[in-house]
Amino acid sequence: MHHRLIILGSGPAGYTAAIYAGRANLAPVLLEGMQPGGQLTITTEIENFPGFAEGIDANELMDQMRQQCERFGTTILSNLCVKADLSQSPYRLWLDDDSELTCDSLIIATGATAKYLGLEDEKKYMGQGVSACATCDGFFYRKKVVAVVGGGDTACEEANYLAGLASKVYLIVRKDHLRASQIMQERVLNNPKIEVLFLTNTLGLYGENGVEGAHLIYNKGGEDERTYDLPIDGFFLAIGHKPNSELFLPWVKINENGYIMTEGDSPRTGIPGVYAAGDVADPHYRQAVIAAASGAKAAMEAEKYLQGL
Ligand code: NDP
Repeated sequence: MHHRLIILGSGPAGYTAAIYAGRANLAPVLLEGMQPGGQLTITTEIENFPGFAEGIDANELMDQMRQQCERFGTTILSNLCVKADLSQSPYRLWLDDDSELTCDSLIIATGATAKYLGLEDEKKYMGQGVSACATCDGFFYRKKVVAVVGGGDTACEEANYLAGLASKVYLIVRKDHLRASQIMQERVLNNPKIEVLFLTNTLGLYGENGVEGAHLIYNKGGEDERTYDLPIDGFFLAIGHKPNSELFLPWVKINENGYIMTEGDSPRTGIPGVYAAGDVADPHYRQAVIAAASGAKAAMEAEKYLQGL
């Protein structure tokens, strides 16, 4: 089946692209992908999306965006794209039900996935003390005690951000040093509210009503190995994100961390009619409002491209 425009992804970037493309009469088809509604659906309340003075439940926000897409004629498929061929137009996509779609223009808004440690307790306490986004959820931990896991720039940035809100921040680092840039390291080490726990790994979390603490192990395998419990209210993962760009690797340019590189601050990938929007192309900001804006840009570019065909 052929469509003029296909949008991959149902986060703020994908939905906003669909709203703009729908209003431009492009009758877009949007594939929801693995996590309908995107990464926001694993957080609780969104307080920093403009227009909602009292905040809004993340799932409610994504549901509103979905309805807005449908209102302007977007067809939403609950499929996953499992293979793509962007070598020539029309571009070909294969779905998880073995069907094949072609399109003249494609917006890749497949997002990024936060990495987790892989502990059962992370799933158990998801949204109840476990978060992978300090900017999204930090506000709920004002004057509370939190831990951030990771030793890179993101972890240091998040620890600093949380230190502005929380009463105490532990930074749990598996090595005996931070990987972050010098300036970020200095900010963390000079912040009296942050305590760095080097050579420390997390074994699990505990708590009756949400996270109340973490089971930690210090210097595993060393002579002074010891396990202990650290009382905390929030547990933030900052061990990196994985952009969902694998399907397009033979055709698009990616940076050293797998993020799709676009031309300047445009969503153009360099392939005619193919655009990348949202977190899959944003190693820095990773915010819903920014993803939404880039989705709008991608749809406007697609409209111009399709008009020219
Ligand atoms: P990084 O890959 O740089 O760092 C990940 C950190 O998490 C490392 O300290 C790593 O430990 C740790 N880690 C990974 N897996 C585990 C695990 N299973 N258990 C415990 N710890 C783990 O990711 P970032 O998201 O921090 O940064 C990604 C890129 O974005 C980098 O290039 C960074 O410089 C950049 N960035 C820049 C910013 C800025 O300039 N302001 C802000 C944020 C990011 P280990 O060191 O032992 O491998």
